[in-house]
Amino acid sequence: MIKRYLLAPGPTPVPPEALLAMAMPIIHHRSPDFLPVLDSAKKGLQWLCQTKNDVLIICSTGTGGMVGAVNNFFSAGDKALVINAGNFGERWTKICKAYNLSVEEMKIEWGFTVKPEDVEKALRRDPSIKGVFVQASETSTGVYHDIKALASVVKKFDNTVFVVDAISALVAHDLRMDEWGIDILIGGSQKGLMLPPGLAFVGISEKAWAFAEKSTLPKFYFNFRKERESLAKNQTNFTSPVTLIIGLNESLKILQKEGLENAFRRHERLAHATREAVKALGLEMFTRESPSNAVTAITAPAGVDGQEIYKNLRVKYGITAAGGQGQAKGKIFRIAHLGYAGTFDVITAIAGVEMVLKGMGHPVKLGTGVAVAQELLLA
Ligand SMILES: *Cc1c(COP(=O)(O)O)cnc(C)c1O
Repeated sequence: MIKRYLLAPGPTPVPPEALLAMAMPIIHHRSPDFLPVLDSAKKGLQWLCQTKNDVLIICSTGTGGMVGAVNNFFSAGDKALVINAGNFGERWTKICKAYNLSVEEMKIEWGFTVKPEDVEKALRRDPSIKGVFVQASETSTGVYHDIKALASVVKKFDNTVFVVDAISALVAHDLRMDEWGIDILIGGSQKGLMLPPGLAFVGISEKAWAFAEKSTLPKFYFNFRKERESLAKNQTNFTSPVTLIIGLNESLKILQKEGLENAFRRHERLAHATREAVKALGLEMFTRESPSNAVTAITAPAGVDGQEIYKNLRVKYGITAAGGQGQAKGKIFRIAHLGYAGTFDVITAIAGVEMVLKGMGHPVKLGTGVAVAQELLLA
């Protein structure tokens, strides 16, 4: 037997409180049993997204939320400015193109973030741009884009909405939907929210709802205006994923007990300790600026295949972290500290990396990174 540790940037471990609640018998989604459950989840999500707006609960993975953010607010031929700084930025481009939007891509070198002034220039150059699409945390490269600054740029343009894929950032980063002016904010269950995969969350501003009135793209399963009407009655348009929503309430309860600020600080602390430990081992960060609190992306040492590090962690020590995606495949490996994560997740990950590197013949003094993480995480 090998004991397993899940340290991937999704799915993430699920706390026992949520697992137990989800083990209870299924209730009917139109019964009086369920209405207060959805009501409480709805309010909890507004608290988490720091918004008075509707936060829809969609039965799909995070990408479904991204798709809905395109087909509900735009029309074929509409101009989209996509900030493509990695694998998930690329996904925005693919979705927008699938729905025949006209895409202008702002390509950012992997490991770097977008400069808000470049977005402002692009919007001034072409005021017909209807949407700016970005990731908060670009999970493939481990950067965090400056959402606050970007929101303050897009806010100046009445014809443009700001669409943020916060699937890996929610809970790990302070994202103030109303105060900053984020128009569409997307989350997913299997990341910071500590749940199994299967739910997407979509927060929507009044500015964005006005865009929905004019959107002519086809909608059926992802019909957000219908979901909004249902949500007002504490229902979802189709059969509610009752089990996951029951789990969501448990996760939200845990987070509410911790407090938002504390949750952000915990993620910041774990991320910082991970980075410093990795650097103490002589490894380089793949992320070159503004690292995410959700995941640390590390460049594999010269001559070592990043996928082999990832594979050895899993096969030899039971640690499921992550390798690289797209152009970074083989060059990097990634460690998450997201959701149900604490001190000993970081220490486990760093100890595992040291043991794997040593096993692969890379010179490592065992305990070097672990000691740094321990110092930084002393209570
Ligand atoms: C995980 C992730 C997604 C995709 O989510 P799925 O649940 O796999 O559809 C999208 N964007 C980011 C930034 C992610 O981390």
